[in-house]
Amino acid sequence: MQHTINPEAHGPRGAAMADAVSACVHCGFCLSACPTYSVLGEEMDSPRGRIYLMKSVLEGDLAATDAQPYIDRCLGCMGCEPACPSGVAYGDLLTSYRALQEETRQRPLIDSVTRRMIVETLPYPKRFRAAAKLGRLGKLMQAALPDQLGAMLGLLPDQLPAPVHLPAKIPAKGQRRARVALLTGCVQTVLAPQINQATVDVLTANGVEVVIPQNQGCCGSIMSHIGETQRAQRLAAHNLQAFPTDVDAIITNAAGCGSGMHEYGLLFKGTAQEAAATHFAQQVQDVTVFLAALGLRAMPATQPARRVAYHDACHLAHAQGVTDPPRALLNSIPNLTLVELDNDLCCGSAGTYNLEQPEIAAELGQRKAQSIIETNADMVVMGNIGCFTQVETHLARLQADVSVLHTIELLARAYQ
Ligand code: SF4
Ligand code: SF4
Repeated sequence: MQHTINPEAHGPRGAAMADAVSACVHCGFCLSACPTYSVLGEEMDSPRGRIYLMKSVLEGDLAATDAQPYIDRCLGCMGCEPACPSGVAYGDLLTSYRALQEETRQRPLIDSVTRRMIVETLPYPKRFRAAAKLGRLGKLMQAALPDQLGAMLGLLPDQLPAPVHLPAKIPAKGQRRARVALLTGCVQTVLAPQINQATVDVLTANGVEVVIPQNQGCCGSIMSHIGETQRAQRLAAHNLQAFPTDVDAIITNAAGCGSGMHEYGLLFKGTAQEAAATHFAQQVQDVTVFLAALGLRAMPATQPARRVAYHDACHLAHAQGVTDPPRALLNSIPNLTLVELDNDLCCGSAGTYNLEQPEIAAELGQRKAQSIIETNADMVVMGNIGCFTQVETHLARLQADVSVLHTIELLARAYQ
């Protein structure tokens, strides 16, 4: 392929960036799929505009600082990828570009403090739990804080749920049909530990033995998506060792983690761990994909009537192409009516985006909550902890009486 960028000049991921840039034919089909273009209406806040900006920087025609605000405002939601008829690998370009820029980037003090808090707390459940408890006290002075810190506190729940401890192995119920290892995650174990419990309950009810590596840690996806490559590699390398290889799948119930783990080959590109990381990535499956392929055992026929809206998490629908399996599982619950949202744009959560770009995130969160309310659903379900927190926050702000559940939680209820 003809490169317009010298790939060798930009490290092991240079070729991935050059390929993505050269595949873009500037047709603009991606514009309507882009949430920031929809909110801001600026060409440079669209996928096409950002590709042009990154190309110009990589070719040495534009200072990185001039492009930075537009690249920072990108959610990394990947809404543009399935919309692109030319198959531009925008995610590979964005993640690699952010990693490259992070090596030399200077930030204003408040941005540095926010980022430091993110990278030092989110991937570590004990630190995050302690920070969340402190943050609840900080809510008292939220109005006096800078926007980013105020947004961070605003997303914290008033009460943290009690931790859930899962043992190293949970046997299948009935005849064993498969054996999997479960990524329990970092933020999710603190904010919503019931999601992992529900995942175990549904898997074991369907004849799946679940292994929980006790020394596992954060998968590194959040760090990878914000350009903190070395931190991401360290975290991911730990899990490459911690997870067994003799399982049928490595299961995740968080879309952001799943998409990040599927990119391990790119994360470790050019390193001694590239082959092991690529193999690990091939074993990763979202829990809904795994269960839909396995086939659900029958659940009790007597179920309450439920009107359920399904929100496509970007890192599940766009980054992993997973849209049908969760819907198929939900449709298998007796007496459930599944309704679709008009708004399929990102909810504004996008990893740490709602902390780093709170105004755009809030606008998108409000639009998403409004579209959920318009379906008259009793509950909305989704497959990502980040969306979960964002949607719950914005539904509460609009005083909507709509429950927010992870897809697997609703399935677990249906089996009770
Ligand atoms: S749709 Fe694809 S090829 Fe067209 S402008 Fe967008 S990224 Fe470029
Ligand atoms: S990743 Fe999302 S926000 Fe970024 S350019 Fe693509 S559609 Fe727009």
